[in-house]
Amino acid sequence: MPQGISDRIRAAMRPSAAVLEPYDPAFSQVRINLSANENTYGMPSDVKVAVDKGLCDAVTNRYPQPLSNELRSELARWHGVGEDHVIVGNGGDELLFNLFLAFGGRDHVLVSCEPTFSVYRLYAELVETAAVNVPRDPETFECDADALVEAASRASIVVVTSPNNPTGNLFPVEQTRRLCEACPGIVLLDEAYMEFAPDGSSAEPLLAEYGNLAVLHTLSKAFCLAGGRIGYVLASPSVVNALAAVRQPYSVNVFSQAAGLAAVRSRGAFGPAIASIASERERLLDELAGMGGLGVTAWPSAGNFLLVRMPDAHVVRNRLRDEFSILVRDFSSAPGLRDCLRVTVGMPDENDALLDALRRLLKGE
Ligand SMILES: *Cc1c(COP(=O)(O)O)cnc(C)c1O
Repeated sequence: MPQGISDRIRAAMRPSAAVLEPYDPAFSQVRINLSANENTYGMPSDVKVAVDKGLCDAVTNRYPQPLSNELRSELARWHGVGEDHVIVGNGGDELLFNLFLAFGGRDHVLVSCEPTFSVYRLYAELVETAAVNVPRDPETFECDADALVEAASRASIVVVTSPNNPTGNLFPVEQTRRLCEACPGIVLLDEAYMEFAPDGSSAEPLLAEYGNLAVLHTLSKAFCLAGGRIGYVLASPSVVNALAAVRQPYSVNVFSQAAGLAAVRSRGAFGPAIASIASERERLLDELAGMGGLGVTAWPSAGNFLLVRMPDAHVVRNRLRDEFSILVRDFSSAPGLRDCLRVTVGMPDENDALLDALRRLLKGE
């Protein structure tokens, strides 16, 4: 159990950190875990063989390549950019942290659109960056692009998540173009879930035009490496070097680099699971939409998850866990997300189990 931070120790902390508590993902051992947007299909078996070989062959008595050179060049080839347009991090989270270290700080401004991934505001505030929220539409969760462009004209960092976690919305590429034009600072498109979205949804084609655009990707979601901690940013060499300047030199260890390289070399093997998740997402959405009589609302999503609103969501979430051993993510007390849960799209039998359990709980059986 977390022991908290004593007053004595808290008094010695930097003020922006002293208001925080340790992160608790609220995981518990369950039969079906649909709480963290992982790929529940798991690594395809031939990719697993390649990853295992990479891990076995990893050389541990020497420091890792600071910039993950082999993985970096494989990622560059994949995305059709030069190696100097790629930086690899210890998960996307580390790259977000580095973004705020490099471009945040006092007198700097983050602009983002909530509800969204809570990490942006957390890191911004930790390094004393003012956080400006351009709220999403409370019904559709679409961004207000005009208001966002207006706010971007005074921002050091704009972060837009596409598909957005936890609401699933895409951000139109033409609006990203307007942001890049308007913003004197960096525009980060967080595309952690872009592999699940329709082709043509990514802001990546704009990279050739805008030196202030950065696109974040991760191997944690589509590519089954949440445990491996590999993320990467595509951006201009200047932005890449700014992130490289503040990073811990050896943050990406040899095992992660080896596993990432094997997975990226075999990226085509993930296609069938990704396609199945996208079609299961639509099936799950249809089924949930059919539960309107039970008070359920579900929003369309371009990610591997759905946002679902229902009566007494917090109680439902706990009963799913305790009575059905199914874990989903509780957003019911987050601003703008009253009575909302986020469910990861799993394999067909996992989704069936979730639907069945939800029906029973909401019918009061
Ligand atoms: C999961 C996620 C990330 C990155 O996750 P890592 O595991 O740290 O790579 C980034 N942005 C969003 C919106 C996410 O949901």
